[in-house]
Amino acid sequence: MSVPNPTRIEVDTDAQTLTVTWADGHSSVFPLDRLRAACPCANCGGKAVEQVAPPDAADASPDRRWTDLDIEPAGSLGIRITWDDGHNAGIFRWDRLRRLQPKREK
Ligand SMILES: [Zn+2]
Repeated sequence: MSVPNPTRIEVDTDAQTLTVTWADGHSSVFPLDRLRAACPCANCGGKAVEQVAPPDAADASPDRRWTDLDIEPAGSLGIRITWDDGHNAGIFRWDRLRRLQPKREK
């Protein structure tokens, strides 16, 4: 599946979200807690997560707050996130991120 290019990646530690803005204007807003749970590495088993919903009331008091994230490119494929807990084994590919929160038809 080909996806539009990401044009902007933004972490908001106040809102506890990571936002990916795509070239087609869609923004995917991921609650950090849920994105962490979707880590695709072999240890986390987050591969089974098919979608990550945008923030809702349930995210107002997450189990933990993430304040120090490091995001680096993983080639042209996606991003590697180093989480507060030191974990950085999972590469979030662009196509997967887009699938996790696709554009909704209005
Ligand atoms: Zn992992």
